Amino acid sequence: MILLKNCYRVATFNPNCDELKKVDILIKGNLIEKIAPNIELAPQKADETEIIDCSRHLVIPGMVNCHHHFYQTLTRNLPGAQNTGLFDWLKYLYPIWARLDPDAVYYSTLLATAELLKTGATTTSDHMYIYPAGFDDDIMAIQFEAARKTGIRFSPTRGSMTLGLKDGGLPPDNVVQTPREVIADMERVIDKFHDPSPIAMQKIALAPCSPFSVDKTVMIETAKLARQYGIVLHTHLAETKDEEIFCLEKYGKRPLKLMADWDWLGEDVFFAHGIFFNDSELEFLRETGTGICHCPTSNMRLGSGIARIKEMRDLGIRLGLGVDGSASNDSSDMLGEARNAMLLQRVKYGPGAMSAGEIFRIATTGGANLLGFSKIGRIEAGYAADLALFDMSQLQYAGALADPLAAIVFTGFNHSADWTIVHGKIVVRKGCLTGFDEEEIAAKANESAKRLVNEF
Ligand SMILES: [Zn+2]
Repeated sequence: MILLKNCYRVATFNPNCDELKKVDILIKGNLIEKIAPNIELAPQKADETEIIDCSRHLVIPGMVNCHHHFYQTLTRNLPGAQNTGLFDWLKYLYPIWARLDPDAVYYSTLLATAELLKTGATTTSDHMYIYPAGFDDDIMAIQFEAARKTGIRFSPTRGSMTLGLKDGGLPPDNVVQTPREVIADMERVIDKFHDPSPIAMQKIALAPCSPFSVDKTVMIETAKLARQYGIVLHTHLAETKDEEIFCLEKYGKRPLKLMADWDWLGEDVFFAHGIFFNDSELEFLRETGTGICHCPTSNMRLGSGIARIKEMRDLGIRLGLGVDGSASNDSSDMLGEARNAMLLQRVKYGPGAMSAGEIFRIATTGGANLLGFSKIGRIEAGYAADLALFDMSQLQYAGALADPLAAIVFTGFNHSADWTIVHGKIVVRKGCLTGFDEEEIAAKANESAKRLVNEF
């Protein structure tokens, strides 16, 4: 058991109770057992309980990162891709990603999940869609092995690309698979890894890459398979004007209309980005319950545009937050993503567009909803013990304590959580990972990156 003693502030994101002060949180197994002032432990329980003094800590539900491409952590900040838009950026990077090997998948997963945990995320998705010719190892098994090391709750998607250059797509032909290969492997990973329970540590979703890299048959078959197994569907959509032009030229339809035709709308579907939707399309998203994962840093980095998140929130469209891949962020800084999301909406709509509380709601309960977890994202008895604790006595928060929750996104030269707890287990202790040596992750990730990239 873990007892968080005398918490300075607790932002619960439970609709029935706002911020709490000076309470204890008792964690038993992988669940939050009790939240109350002065919880007393029976003497025999005290010996088996770790007690953490939280008198200086803000406690929030662990954030949920809904969109990432872990492998890109090894190709971040490449000079040749620093100043290009999405399509040129992809054309530059695809041949580099085609050299991915098992070590690169393993260490990039360690690296990305380490950064997420250290910045307050406790659950993450990953969108792995590069399956290079000749890569015979089980990519998802490697990812799960790494995620178990760092201790994050992990809901990877089985991504796919089938439309190579010779078929009019964007990726080179040596990183795409045949529809038959994709469909067979989606079934395999669901059977092998998927746990449908409300607080699963392993949960699979399906995610063809985008309308410009996957053929119609795979899109339709993927949706059928997801419905058959009751799992979540995800893809990139309406990220750039180039994508819209591609869809209009190839199919004669806007991206969202294509999704409707392919049975890709509903409460089990969410899209990354969603920048270029018109008014009637926003209404259609709301009507169908289709969700959007906002990735503001990537959208700024690639100059893609500003998603209409404030309007989506006002309409009641389901929303989550994602750091996106590290070749377009270039970090897995979840708290930084919340800060950028709050600020970017203000650029478009003015200072009242998005409050700190609203962005954290999107980053916690909103993300949990998109990924299909019913018992994470809140601090409430019976919910998963997924928590991030920030030490409010640090220099960076001095002078900002009138509103501790807002302080962690309004201030911000260091986004590190002091403690992170996932599934009742401490995975970040006093700012350091407990599951893996951080220097070793960095050194091994750099070795893998050197093999991929000739620019080092
Ligand atoms: Zn992405």
